[in-house]
Amino acid sequence: MKTTLIICIFALSFGALYNSNATEVNKQGTSADSVKTDLVCKMKIKPSTNLKSTYQKQEYLFCSKGCKLKFDQNPEKYLKK
Ligand SMILES: [Zn+2]
Repeated sequence: MKTTLIICIFALSFGALYNSNATEVNKQGTSADSVKTDLVCKMKIKPSTNLKSTYQKQEYLFCSKGCKLKFDQNPEKYLKK
């Protein structure tokens, strides 16, 4: 009986470990894909920032309040390529 229990615990903890590893890899993949660029200063921005502006249904992220302000005042200037 004891051996069965130990095997069960081992299997459970191994499963938990395996699952958490899989989640970690997925998270890393998503964050790498969703890195945005600050259109004002061309810096790479982490998607977790609170400095966002929505213009023509598109969301733009900024590194600082200064960049967000500049964009808000003249979005067209920064959207031109
Ligand atoms: Zn910036």
